[in-house]
Amino acid sequence: MFKKVLIANRGEIALRIHRACKEMGIATVAVHSTADANAMHVRLADESVCIGPAAAKDSYLNIAAIIAAAEITNADAIHPGYGFLSENARFAEIIAAHDLTFIGPLPEHIKTMGDKIAAKDAAGKAGIPLVPGSDGGVTSFAEAKKVAAKIGYPVLIKAAAGGGGKGMKLALSESDLESAMSNAQQEARASFGDDAIYLEKYLQKPRHIEIQIAADAHGNVIQLGERDCSLQRRHQKVLEEALSPALSEKKRQQIGETTRKAIEKLGYLGVGTVEYLYENDEFYFIEMNTRLQVEHPITEQVTNLDLVREQIRIAAGEKLTVRQKDIRFSGHAIECRINAEDPVHFRPSPGKIVNFHAPGGPGVRFDSAVYGGYSIPPHYDSMIGKLIVFGDSRELCLERLRRALSEIVITGINTTIPLFEKLLDVPDFINGDYDIHWLENWLEDQQQAD
Ligand code: ADP
Repeated sequence: MFKKVLIANRGEIALRIHRACKEMGIATVAVHSTADANAMHVRLADESVCIGPAAAKDSYLNIAAIIAAAEITNADAIHPGYGFLSENARFAEIIAAHDLTFIGPLPEHIKTMGDKIAAKDAAGKAGIPLVPGSDGGVTSFAEAKKVAAKIGYPVLIKAAAGGGGKGMKLALSESDLESAMSNAQQEARASFGDDAIYLEKYLQKPRHIEIQIAADAHGNVIQLGERDCSLQRRHQKVLEEALSPALSEKKRQQIGETTRKAIEKLGYLGVGTVEYLYENDEFYFIEMNTRLQVEHPITEQVTNLDLVREQIRIAAGEKLTVRQKDIRFSGHAIECRINAEDPVHFRPSPGKIVNFHAPGGPGVRFDSAVYGGYSIPPHYDSMIGKLIVFGDSRELCLERLRRALSEIVITGINTTIPLFEKLLDVPDFINGDYDIHWLENWLEDQQQAD
């Protein structure tokens, strides 16, 4: 097992990884930008190294500085968390070239899954059902017109290098297609430096359902059930549930087993998530994330597993602690992403937290790195905490959520807490009756009513 792990991230996920390491008797090294000198991940780690100025490109994305930090501190492995360099195959390769271990999958799998066109091709070959669309990328309008006519409008133009909903444009009919294509290409070029695009049928009322998997180097591949991440705003997840309120036990087993077998076939190593859209009882693959996911705690709560511990074990060449036959799902879990944003227009609200009190009690977990007196820097993601509630039933989770939300105190900045309080009074949400477009429609109605 590793003796010292460098955590190449910040915020709540850096803390989450630190906690797993501590429990496993592994020392931790935090890296940080100058803007994060007082951050909790720096305070808790055994050692810390400043790796550059506030801008992420000069610090948390600065590969040379991170490798140097690992060498100076004698770390033997690097955990990338999510975001930043977590899906950068070159980073994984450079780490290996320095005789360090990357706590994540093999570079070849990061590469394949990072290119959505290659990912769809690999997933399809491994037996995973796909969204109807272009066979590979499209480069000309004539080609796109042909594909769209075949799959039927509306169609979605997506960036091969896509992420965070960027480079994704909708064409309702042929008259929109050309402009949607060039807009998608432009946005993809600006965000990813790569304007390769492909076409997909636009599903009208799907749910976003994703399967958590883990695979070790000893041939053990497991699937840990699904998370329903249909509550989204601008293609970004806002609240997640495990298991999904919309799946039958039969469908759950089917998609879980299809996914598990495909992962086995791909020879994948590490933890990962296969994302699907689910509509009219059918699953359609959209992408695979080759890292730990923001919403991993709800899977931990319903499976009673520590995913970060399993991930570290896999990277160290050890066996997963469980086999598929040992996995039981118990109860329900819900996660709310609390952002430093105003809850109506979602404008970022960085600044100093004056008073802070975390919720607690039965069935409540609060993963966050903030504290009273902490100043949220304006340079990074606005997510400041994840409120996770769990219990025997979905009803109990909703009751706990209401109670926990009323306990949290965060003053001095705006947060999205009021949004979740409001949602708890909406019948569609209470009944679990929502698709990926539901939240945006509801928010629009709210704004009009204001
Ligand atoms: P990104 O990597 O940019 O987040 P994804 O492919 O994971 O992109 O898609 C993000 C979200 O966009 C999905 O959860 C879903 O809400 C929406 N989406 C993606 N593909 C489709 C599709 N074919 N039809 C309808 N919505 C889609």
